[in-house]
Amino acid sequence: AGGAAPIIQARGLVKTFGQTQALRGIDLDIDRGEVVAIMGPSGSGKSTLLHALAGVIVPDAGTVTVDSRVISVLREPERAALRLRKFGFVFQFGQLLPDLTALDNVTIPLLLAGRKRADAIRQSSAWLDRLGLAGEARQLPGELSGGQAQRVAIARALVMKPMVLFADEPTGSLDSLAAENVLTAMLDLVREEGTTVVMITHDPRTAAYADREVIVRDGQLSAAHAPQTLTSATP
Ligand code: ADP
Ligand code: MG
Repeated sequence: AGGAAPIIQARGLVKTFGQTQALRGIDLDIDRGEVVAIMGPSGSGKSTLLHALAGVIVPDAGTVTVDSRVISVLREPERAALRLRKFGFVFQFGQLLPDLTALDNVTIPLLLAGRKRADAIRQSSAWLDRLGLAGEARQLPGELSGGQAQRVAIARALVMKPMVLFADEPTGSLDSLAAENVLTAMLDLVREEGTTVVMITHDPRTAAYADREVIVRDGQLSAAHAPQTLTSATP
């Protein structure tokens, strides 16, 4: 929203693994409700950037501010609590517990948050419904298609109404038709909910659904192409 502080503000992020400089000074602002696509070659630092923004890792230098709170100085237990309360995550593979039904997978975060079972089931069913999975609620992950399994993972990430959804190649394991369907379903929901999204993608069509593309090369941001610029490029 105009004039409001960015929901995420990163300044001077540096992260080194051994000899590898994964991040070499990244500044990035993300606005509330914005959908940002992070693109760039393999190994360029995209996942490391996402992990730093989400407080999964702490940068060697630089700061990450989320909702006006500097999170890059927090210890892991506090960052873990923040991630649980405010963030949802979707990854490329292997996110669902294989012995639980689709519905039970989605209820987990609600049950962990202390919600009553009946309420958790009602909420989770509604999210599966919104993702076109009403008929698959009782199936095990192994019985689902790749696209259906990703939808369940998306439902589980959104059921807690996260402030920010972080997605690392959420459709990277899918064929292009399934990828398109999963992505449009996810983005329809986050637009309805006003959820801020930071998603890594290799698919240029994916980026077309974003408000803004951010390109990472060699641990730095390169000039970003902005289909609909919502933020100014300078602080
Ligand atoms: P991308 O997501 O763009 O493919 P990453 O952020 O995963 O890139 O990795 C950036 C660079 O940092 C790569 O050279 C990668 O090998 C290295 N790297 C990432 N994570 C680790 C780690 N935990 N240990 C060692 N090297 C890592
Ligand atoms: Mg990656």
